[in-house]
Amino acid sequence: MSLEPSFFKNQFDFSGKVAIITGGSSGIGFETARMLLAGGARVLLTGRDEIKGEKAVRKLGKGPCQKINFLKADVSKTGQCKKIICSTIEQYGKIDIVINNAGVFKANPIENVTEKEFDWIVDTNLKGAFFICKYAVPYLKKNKAGAVINVSSDAGLQGNNLSSAYCASKGGLTIFTKALALELASYGIRVNCVCPGDIATPMLDNDLETRSDSKKYLKALTESYPVGRLGRPEEVASVICFLASGASGFVTGAAWSVDGGITA
Ligand code: NAD
Repeated sequence: MSLEPSFFKNQFDFSGKVAIITGGSSGIGFETARMLLAGGARVLLTGRDEIKGEKAVRKLGKGPCQKINFLKADVSKTGQCKKIICSTIEQYGKIDIVINNAGVFKANPIENVTEKEFDWIVDTNLKGAFFICKYAVPYLKKNKAGAVINVSSDAGLQGNNLSSAYCASKGGLTIFTKALALELASYGIRVNCVCPGDIATPMLDNDLETRSDSKKYLKALTESYPVGRLGRPEEVASVICFLASGASGFVTGAAWSVDGGITA
């Protein structure tokens, strides 16, 4: 195969592509939106908080390509998952890339986890991604192409202490990814997940706020990483974009670690 100078640019060219990012007002989802927009995609960002969402859109829309919109939707409600897909089709006419990024985390010993807390974590992290896929699949099948990227976690590959509900949700999401990859492979639709380690985003900040020994905890957490630091949201976003791009055409059913070596 001969490589033209434009080879790399073409691999990450998202012109004409339509992407949905759930929970995209902050952190990993926000950085992913920034990269996809830079690659020429049109992006529907979704989240629960309209003010936060519109603020994110204003920040992202400042660039040369104002191709971003926000939709208020809670992915833990299946009716709202359907609304996200219907609204994307109404606004853009098709779907090429689905990024199930919305997620919540709470560290808690199992004796203290209420049914309400369990449902909140599992309904957001697993049920939301499942139903977004369910409603998106008919449109992806119609295109005979598409990329789904679920944002799982290192906690979707291994057990993390005091995180049983979160691990249940992310472990489910990782295996759901693999099952759906098999189901959709013959339609040209690829389904993968990323499994980030600790990343400096509002999710980590919120967790630190709940800890009385947060400085000590953060130091120990950082030192536990083989690379000696935590991750940055753009370092996960770039892997998501790779999995959404033509550069990963033969990758499906993968659980891609982005974790500074913590699960190695
Ligand atoms: P974040 O808190 O900035 O992003 C999560 C987003 O999801 C927020 O914008 C939040 O408002 C949104 N959200 C939560 N519940 C929602 C709901 N019901 N409907 C719609 N949106 C909802 O943190 P982040 O780190 O960028 O998290 C993104 C994803 O990465 C999550 O799925 C998280 O589990 C995963 N992850 C994060 C880390 C980390 O250390 N930060 C590690 C592994 C995996």
